[in-house]
Amino acid sequence: MSADDRRVEVYPGKEAVVEFDPGLTFDCVSECTWCCHHGVLVYDREFLELAKRANLNEATTQFRGEDFVVREEKDHDHAGDDGRACYFLREDGLCELHAEDDWKPARCSVFPLSVRAEAGDIHVSVRESAREHCEGMNVGDRKVVDNLEAFLPEYLWDLDDPDSEREL
Ligand code: SF4
Ligand code: SF4
Repeated sequence: MSADDRRVEVYPGKEAVVEFDPGLTFDCVSECTWCCHHGVLVYDREFLELAKRANLNEATTQFRGEDFVVREEKDHDHAGDDGRACYFLREDGLCELHAEDDWKPARCSVFPLSVRAEAGDIHVSVRESAREHCEGMNVGDRKVVDNLEAFLPEYLWDLDDPDSEREL
């Protein structure tokens, strides 16, 4: 761990090694939707939660033994350059899961951060693609480091591989 890294207790007994500028602020820019242009990883233990809210046969697909939300053609303006986006991205630019039930997969909460396990610790950094595309970085005065529980669901600490960068 370098001298700049910081350990932060996010939940009782659950620490994250912070590898980004502690001055980073974040506030999602709702009309952006860039991070919803992907098919996000669904961790095994999220699968049941998703099943309560969606038809898994339609909304998810498998790739290399892992489950992902389907990335599909959209007929609205919030899709990516190729006209595709996450199954749950509505035409008003909102996430169906979040808007209707205040829930979303961990990968969606984690963005624009990136999580990886290393030597038994959870390391949190800023995702490279977010530096380029996320319009919410350094917006507002809400410091990320002071609000890590909003980005990191507690069950990430229980996963063998919480790496959040896998997506379709
Ligand atoms: S599940 Fe919701 S928040 Fe996550 S990528 Fe899809 S639309 Fe966006
Ligand atoms: S890329 Fe950043 S600003 Fe854009 S929707 Fe995602 S979190 Fe919000």
